[in-house]
Amino acid sequence: MTATYPFSAVVGLDDLKLALVLNAVSPRVGGVLVRGEKGTAKSTIVRALAAQLPPVEVLAACRFACDPSAPDPACPDGPHEPGERVVTRAAALVELPVGASEDRLVGSLDLERALTEGVKAFEPGLLAAAHRGVLYVDEVNLLHDHLVDLLLDAAALGTCYVEREAVSVRHAARFLLVGTMNPEEGELRPQLLDRFGLTVEVRASREPSERAEVVRRRMAHDADPEGFAARWTAQEAELAAGIAAARDRLGAVELPDARLRQIAEVCAAFEVDGLRADLVTANAAVAHAAWRGAGVVTTEDVRVAARLSLPHRRRRDPFDAPGLDERLLEELLDRTSEDEHPDDDTDPDTPPPAGDDPKGGPDGDEGPGSDGEDRRDDDATASGDTRTEDRAPAGESRRDGDRALPQDARGPHDSRAPGQDEPTDQEGQVQVAGVAAPYRVPWLKVRGLGNGASGRRSRARTPQGRTTGSRAPEGPLRSVHLTATLVAAAPYQRERGRTAPGLLIREEDLRETVKEGREGNLVLFVVDASGSMAARKRMTAVKTAVLSLLLDAYQRRDKVGMVTFRGSAAEVALPPTSSVEAGAARLRALPTGGRTPLAAGLARAAEVLRVERMRDPDRRPLLVVVTDGRATSGGDVERAAALLTGTASVVVDCESGPVRLGLAGRLATRLRARLIPLDGMDDLIRDYRRAS
Ligand SMILES: [Zn+2]
Repeated sequence: MTATYPFSAVVGLDDLKLALVLNAVSPRVGGVLVRGEKGTAKSTIVRALAAQLPPVEVLAACRFACDPSAPDPACPDGPHEPGERVVTRAAALVELPVGASEDRLVGSLDLERALTEGVKAFEPGLLAAAHRGVLYVDEVNLLHDHLVDLLLDAAALGTCYVEREAVSVRHAARFLLVGTMNPEEGELRPQLLDRFGLTVEVRASREPSERAEVVRRRMAHDADPEGFAARWTAQEAELAAGIAAARDRLGAVELPDARLRQIAEVCAAFEVDGLRADLVTANAAVAHAAWRGAGVVTTEDVRVAARLSLPHRRRRDPFDAPGLDERLLEELLDRTSEDEHPDDDTDPDTPPPAGDDPKGGPDGDEGPGSDGEDRRDDDATASGDTRTEDRAPAGESRRDGDRALPQDARGPHDSRAPGQDEPTDQEGQVQVAGVAAPYRVPWLKVRGLGNGASGRRSRARTPQGRTTGSRAPEGPLRSVHLTATLVAAAPYQRERGRTAPGLLIREEDLRETVKEGREGNLVLFVVDASGSMAARKRMTAVKTAVLSLLLDAYQRRDKVGMVTFRGSAAEVALPPTSSVEAGAARLRALPTGGRTPLAAGLARAAEVLRVERMRDPDRRPLLVVVTDGRATSGGDVERAAALLTGTASVVVDCESGPVRLGLAGRLATRLRARLIPLDGMDDLIRDYRRAS
């Protein structure tokens, strides 16, 4: 095994390093969600941190990593007797793959053995393996919602519950949870975002010298991992000692009432929901004070904590990316820090005392800590260049730099303004229509029973949901239908020679439950952006309708995609994605004008669906064509529509005016689609509510 890349050798990414360290110091901080582009060494740095966590003592015979000094009373491998063999090992780093099953995550009970042999055989899952270590979930936003729920429940409770028919197992599962996500590939639901303690935006440095240094170190590491690691041994040892010392110090750190009120004021001003933000901010501030070797939480600790704990908790609509108004934070902190002890804060104009012993140090030494420990603290605080920077009491330039980052990183959401430099189409004036407030849309479904990923749109066989029947298992038995199993076994009892009470059950008797719930679909929008739709208000109504449908798709856990057509061609404005935000951004910026190549739009949609069917065969598509149906250029509409035969479709009829041609209706007939008039969407919802 090659040596892990040293944590201290990671260039930049100071917020991420700090967030990880604070979690390593205090488990109460509640994990980190790392948001950012691919290729930013997210996993490298998490592995590097895990390697510096203090080793753990475990009972050798326990598969659930019980602590010898306090074994889990409910441990499935217990009860543990005093005197069992103890081993010391590194803190675990467990990586949860995106495609993991529920069994893999929480463990599994061998139901066949349980029923046929009467043996309760529980196989621990990844949550058990991560106990007292780190659980790393790359691309947590792509993980099935149900698994995310299980994961965050375990993280919040420190316990993993496994419930199967008539059998329940629970065991301790406390771990540092680190999730990463690329927001371009879809957001986490706000209620899941909120359950990560801290959040950090990362992106590769735009600074050439820093980028060069990253590459230089990476190459040195790849050429000789052991040699490279050896050069960082001293820094890594200091880091590990610093974490251990901060852990020891944590319980003695004082959080003055004034700072607690400051945290409350900041959280209230940012309009976060509930009290979780206050709690996480307080815990992170305490961890930060412990980390820099101080005994009392200061405004600086609160600043650091708030910057990491609030961006994803601001109340917001689902299309907004997390972010924090740092100017407001500074104002709030300034206003509420007046009563602070003068020694605690630093004059903002004074440069940070690099390598200096933090001022809280002397205050903090309450316990009778040995000299050795104290020295370790000092070393640790002086060492980390990252940390020196992070606790720097913001000089003006530092503050500006901080503010600039989230704005730059905000991405496509800011493209709400009309794109002025859009070239004018030769067919006519090109415009970018605005978007009005979204409204509730009728519930569109795909007929029949699907097999797709859980969601909230169309009927489907799903692992969750209500039981609708039983069947002989097709793969490993996951969920026993007891009645059906007993009924299957009953006729053979005499011939199997049953004499005593209790049924004789064989493998062939086993029946599993068939459940029905709802699946998410692929909602593919085909949007006519031609000149005939360009009358400003018309296109605003169209965009608002599509935005409303997008919001609905988000709530129903659909994937969305968008094909637009105007002028001479159709284009894939949004390849199928879970990122509804990306769809909303593209929609807002969508220009209108030119001819109407309807056939090209339909053909392009058919191609998108063909590719997507190969990629994700179980996800059934729902086609939503938004047009007035008036084709004025290129291609045979009938032939293009034939390519979409069998696809569940809806046509939103955008024709307006006193004289109507009914062309969208004709298209709907060709596609065997439901026809919804654009103007009637509201009426339709009212009818729908009345009927249901
Ligand atoms: Zn145990």
